[in-house]
Amino acid sequence: MQKGPNFIEKIIKDDLQKGLAQKNLCFRFPPEPNGFLHIGHVKAICINFDLGETFNAPVNLRFDDTNPTSEEKKFVDGIKKDIKWLGYKWEKECYASDYFDDLYNWAEQLITKGLAYIDSQDSATIALQKGTPTEAGKNSPYRNRSKEDNLFLFSEMKKGSFMEGEHVLRAKIDMSSPNMLLRDPVMYRIIHMSHQRTNKDWCVYPMYDWAHGQSDLIEKISHSLCTLEFKPHRELYEWFLYAIGPTENKTPKQREFARLNLSYTITSKRKLKRLIQEGCVDGWDDPRMPTISGLRKRGYTPESLKKFVRTAGVAKRENIIELSLLEFCLREHLNKISPRIMAVLNPVKLIIENYPEGELEELSGEINPEDQKSGKRMIPFSKEIYIERDDFKENAEKGFFRLSLGNEVRLKNAYIIKAKSVEKDQNDQIKNIICTYDPLSKSGSDTKESKRKVKATIHWVCSKKAKKIIVNQYDTLFLVPDPDKHEDFIKYVNPNSLVKKNGYIEPYASKLKAGERVQFQRQGYFIVDKINADKQIIFNKTTGLRDSFKNQKKH
Ligand code: ATP
Ligand code: MG
Repeated sequence: MQKGPNFIEKIIKDDLQKGLAQKNLCFRFPPEPNGFLHIGHVKAICINFDLGETFNAPVNLRFDDTNPTSEEKKFVDGIKKDIKWLGYKWEKECYASDYFDDLYNWAEQLITKGLAYIDSQDSATIALQKGTPTEAGKNSPYRNRSKEDNLFLFSEMKKGSFMEGEHVLRAKIDMSSPNMLLRDPVMYRIIHMSHQRTNKDWCVYPMYDWAHGQSDLIEKISHSLCTLEFKPHRELYEWFLYAIGPTENKTPKQREFARLNLSYTITSKRKLKRLIQEGCVDGWDDPRMPTISGLRKRGYTPESLKKFVRTAGVAKRENIIELSLLEFCLREHLNKISPRIMAVLNPVKLIIENYPEGELEELSGEINPEDQKSGKRMIPFSKEIYIERDDFKENAEKGFFRLSLGNEVRLKNAYIIKAKSVEKDQNDQIKNIICTYDPLSKSGSDTKESKRKVKATIHWVCSKKAKKIIVNQYDTLFLVPDPDKHEDFIKYVNPNSLVKKNGYIEPYASKLKAGERVQFQRQGYFIVDKINADKQIIFNKTTGLRDSFKNQKKH
């Protein structure tokens, strides 16, 4: 975890020292409702809401809903659900669209002040005149339109008298500014489309740069925090605030922090949308997606996500955080909270020769050794059980300590067994493993045999009482650590990112409900995705017990 205040906290402390009143602190998280939130947004959410907690200041949720072509109500609802799930409470729920009237009036004032004009060229021509970073742009032939004409055309634009693209409103700044964003940026464009909140009220919509600072001003945001790509926009942000002034020293202050980038992961809504459109995943909340809704379905906890972004820290320089750090934070939390259970995902039958036919015994196992109060669970045991196929080898090579012919292992929470022989089917596949057990070796009993050390302990389930389950197992969605760097990222989608398995689980699982998390002993952490019509539980694998990224062997 980052030690001491981060650079943003330092800026705020400094401002407080210089006379900014504590009561004037206010932050906001400003998502555009054009998709669901992803892990990168968790960072921005934590930065803002944690500042709110640290400085005891309000944090608004502001929907930056200025572009009806890509925004939808379902995204607004999804974003609210995700922030609540993370455990944060916003002060006010705001919408840039609530400020459309103010923005329009301010735009008229800018025209009146000679600081904005209607350009009637098409967007390609306007782009051509922008120049390059080393070459000044050219003034639009409409730059010196009279204020009266500008005001009239602007009001006609608002009335819907023109088609899309016929006119735009531009700020009149400087076509030779070294900052390209100041070369007469577009403030309004015509869009004839219904908006999810204002319906058909408007056919001119403000651009992000024009809406954002003014929305901050209206909400009295003290510190407007965004990602580094907005740094060049700061000059424009400040120009607009100054242009509509006077606002004295109450203007919001934009400061930038580095985006969160995560290996093997894409954090761009546009690209995530493409994954859905091209059928690589089942939707925004597919458990392979780095969206908050996907991570939730995968079994991540809000605590682990917050721990992760806080550990990754707040920096001014872009970097890529290893996925293993995210999984470390996840495991650390899941280890504390997950009830233990045994499940076999690649089963082979094991028959205990000397165990009485027809007998069914109730053994007991700890629910969670990390939680004293969790108590015990009952685990049925009988002559026939399932173990993992991988936990047995007829002839063990050196270093294989699990079950093999002539050798012993302990069955978790049960007895020591010894493998005698195998029975095979026509395909030479092992059908049954025949064993004997030591009746005195029962785990937790008082005998010296129960304390006898054997080289390995394996998990199992009683075949009579086991319940059938379906398990979705995941691998990274991408085969390369830096898919975000490739425009053709779709090419690197992992074709084996989802594998479905059938397995067996202890009957204790029938207590589980959708959304509950468990640890399958020796295997990893799983969440109940749903229970199907046949009462069969479908689990999603959240993560393994160990870091699978340490020895990357994929390329
Ligand atoms: P995307 O590129 O995924 O569409 P965006 O920046 O367009 O992201 P917004 O909805 O506009 O998405 O973002 C809301 C806030 O979240 C902004 O302040 C933005 O800076 C921040 N944010 C977006 N992506 C990240 C990220 N990867 N890391 C940290 N903050 C982010
Ligand atoms: Mg955006």
